[in-house]
Amino acid sequence: MTALPHPLADALDRAASHAKTFRAGIDDGLQRPALDYPAMLARAAAPLPEAGIAAAEVIEQLVELATPGLHKMAGRRFFGWVIGNSHPAGVAADWLASAWGQNAANPQASPAACALETVASSWLLELLDLPRESSVGFVTGATLANFVCLAAARDELLRRAGWDAAADGLFGAPPVEVVIGAEAHATVFSGLQFLGLGRNRVHRVATNAQGAILPEAFATVLAAVRSPPLVVLQAGQINSGAFDDFARLVPLARARGAWIHVDGAFGLWARASMRLAALAAGVELADSWATDGHKWLQTPYDGGFAIVRDAAAHARAMSTTASYLPGVAGERDPSHFVPELSRRARGFATWALIRHLGRAGIAAMVERHVELAQRMAARLGHEPGVTVVNEVVLNQLVVRFGADRTPAEGDRLTRATIARIQADGECFAGGAQWHGAWVMRISVIGFDTTEADADRSVEAMLRAWRAVRSGAAAD
Ligand SMILES: *Cc1c(COP(=O)(O)O)cnc(C)c1O
Repeated sequence: MTALPHPLADALDRAASHAKTFRAGIDDGLQRPALDYPAMLARAAAPLPEAGIAAAEVIEQLVELATPGLHKMAGRRFFGWVIGNSHPAGVAADWLASAWGQNAANPQASPAACALETVASSWLLELLDLPRESSVGFVTGATLANFVCLAAARDELLRRAGWDAAADGLFGAPPVEVVIGAEAHATVFSGLQFLGLGRNRVHRVATNAQGAILPEAFATVLAAVRSPPLVVLQAGQINSGAFDDFARLVPLARARGAWIHVDGAFGLWARASMRLAALAAGVELADSWATDGHKWLQTPYDGGFAIVRDAAAHARAMSTTASYLPGVAGERDPSHFVPELSRRARGFATWALIRHLGRAGIAAMVERHVELAQRMAARLGHEPGVTVVNEVVLNQLVVRFGADRTPAEGDRLTRATIARIQADGECFAGGAQWHGAWVMRISVIGFDTTEADADRSVEAMLRAWRAVRSGAAAD
């Protein structure tokens, strides 16, 4: 067989060559972008091109332009945000998803995309040990997964109250009360906003020092709601990694006829490990779960999963039907579980990652990240003036510098230390406000991050802190 000369060949070869160069050198040099956004915008700004150029030439220009503004999120010393490393198996599968040009809307449109997505769905349910009858929608991330699950919840609670929200909308509908932990992720509130449930029209339940819901406060709020509520729980708080106590909270919510949704963007992956699964014990008793592929599963962006126990409720909230879109009778139709119709075939990357790592590989990776987080916590916490604020149960660390100073001085020292760590560029970590104070967040999530990477990064963090502290002492 001879290869067909196709314009794609040259462009893809060049893309592959640049991709290999980038990834081969990713752990060298600055671990932050060389140029910030304003500088990149100035670099990229150009008038609308009148005439076109060859595809391969476009790739050369793109690489030349973009490289200084790339963040090494796929590197081994990237700890900023909970960002997976775009694993090679997923990246390569995702390239094929584009090159094959499959529209994953419908099983007639792409039998391959839909079949692999269906297989990946059942693998996911088994990996995360969630009810096997659940439906899975392949969305862009946990933000959309939360949105889809909350839509199913809203419509089903209203349906039970005799109201068809999908057909008749929300005007005049009975109220849906929402019960949510005070430290839920911002994107859950976005979902409530998009769905007409309101960000502020909720009962916020007090949480403990780790950000987990206080069961007594939860019981008090539940006793006060007037109709079966939509309850939002969390597996893996964005800063601390804390889990709500599902085994205690879910039965309380069940007794009130609630729909129980769990945001488990990364924390749900503790379920893949026999050793860590106990952290999320009882989570399988909920009604819906949002999780990400592009965090702990390491798929490239964008990939998330909206999982709903009652597949019919899921489909009622999301189905698009039209006579020109015939499904395959009795078979799963991907468009019934997501808000989009046309979309990329995300199932290929999910299938590829689970196939590549296997259940054992995923469990080992998750366990290793937790061990590395605990190792970093031990070394950081040993340093005078440095405090690890959270209980490191998962892959998350919350670190405060200058905790022995006044709150304002601690904030200043923490922010100065983060800025110095970022400028040094040996590793990358960011800041956040946690319980009213500035902290540094560390998320251990790189699939190939080693003990040596963790140790080297801690040394860089401590060097930055010591420099900031001696500067502060000299002031
Ligand atoms: C990351 C995250 C989200 C949002 O997920 P995206 O993938 O960014 O859309 C929601 N909840 C939690 C707990 C998260 O960690």
